[in-house]
Amino acid sequence: MTTEQREIVGMVGDFVEREILPVAHDLDHDDTYPEKIVAQMKQLGFFGFAIPEAYGGTGLDYATYAMVCEEIARGWMSITGIINTHFIVSFLIENFGTDEQKQRFLPRMATGEFHGGFSMSEPNCGSDVQAIQTRAIRDNGDYVINGTKMWATNGEHSTVVATLVKTDPDASPPHRGMSCILAEKQYPGFTSSRRIEKLGYKGVETTELVFENNRQPAANLLGEVEGQGFKQMMAAIEVGRVNVAARGVGVAQRAFELSIAYAQQRQAFGVPIAQHEAIQFKLADMATKIQAARLLTNYAARKKDAGERADVECGMAKLFASETCFEVVSEAMRVHGGYGFSKEYDVERLYRDAPLLIIGEGTNEIQRLIIAKGLLERYRVSG
Ligand SMILES: Cc1cc2nc3c(=O)[nH]c(=O)nc-3n(C[C@H](O)[C@H](O)[C@H](O)COP(=O)(O)OP(=O)(O)OC[C@H]3O[C@@H](n4cnc5c(N)ncnc54)[C@H](O)[C@@H]3O)c2cc1C
Repeated sequence: MTTEQREIVGMVGDFVEREILPVAHDLDHDDTYPEKIVAQMKQLGFFGFAIPEAYGGTGLDYATYAMVCEEIARGWMSITGIINTHFIVSFLIENFGTDEQKQRFLPRMATGEFHGGFSMSEPNCGSDVQAIQTRAIRDNGDYVINGTKMWATNGEHSTVVATLVKTDPDASPPHRGMSCILAEKQYPGFTSSRRIEKLGYKGVETTELVFENNRQPAANLLGEVEGQGFKQMMAAIEVGRVNVAARGVGVAQRAFELSIAYAQQRQAFGVPIAQHEAIQFKLADMATKIQAARLLTNYAARKKDAGERADVECGMAKLFASETCFEVVSEAMRVHGGYGFSKEYDVERLYRDAPLLIIGEGTNEIQRLIIAKGLLERYRVSG
């Protein structure tokens, strides 16, 4: 880490110890939105972390952003979800938005006044993004949007939702007829209709979004040209994959820390269980895999920072870190024995949070397809 990275990650780590870890258990069990934590994060500039300094943010590179996400997830994974969609949207605007859109949205997003959401999934499709049905029709100076979106993280608290729509349903292939609209809640006919009850990832809401003859100004089309939405969203989702990979590392790290402490306190057969070789092997495997996941995540983030194609690296990081996290929380539960199954212990929360990482930001089956496609291009045999 550079000195600057050390300072930022240290500041976030202190915040996690002081403000998040002591309340995470209760907020999770009550499924309560962490209003106080979010207000403090706004004050401390967290909502501007990955937004360029020119627009009032801190301009962190993605490698540092990943370290920050790891720290936060170590405290409570749901908080990383609150900033994830926010920075996916700021990435979209920074990289594909018009100057007017950058000026209008980014400074307000950097302070947290505006909160970004990101919506591709629909009730009938998630992995198969090109099958979306939500339609936007140009009408004078507006787009009229109709359709239902599903699984929108921050669906209630977001002010602006980068929404994937079809502007030309007859386009072939379908992705050429897809556009991204920066849909603002202030325009009638756009509502967060219901919250989805979840196994974990509590506190942060995941909702259905309904567009009923919702008129968004044409100036809210991301960029200037229709038909770019799919490509824009696919580039942005790599930022989300870095976030999810870092979450996996953070949740797993917490599970490991709890396990290695517990193993030295809990006695069985006259000695701390940490002296039993079977437990030592678990701890060794956990720590080794977590470190491997951390390095893969860092590598993917640095590729994204370099502006290079990073689909394979982000896919690998997301795949490996989320599977590692799933494995580590399960091993942590074994180390804790019966207490791991108790709601009084944090391992139970980590165990409920981990599976989302396998599904969100593209399932791990889809990551494998992306990785394989990229590898076959790189290692193409001619003739
Ligand atoms: C808590 C939560 C928060 C979310 N937040 C957001 C959000 O903010 N914005 C958003 O847009 N979406 C969000 N999602 C949606 C998420 O991205 C999708 O759930 C995910 O992409 C999978 O889509 P699906 O659920 O429709 O599963 P499906 O696409 O129906 O897949 C079902 C199964 O089939 C497999 N499968 C599908 N196609 C293939 C294939 N070609 N080859 C092999 N296997 C395949 C999948 O891997 C999976 O195992 C969220 C989801 C959850 C659970």
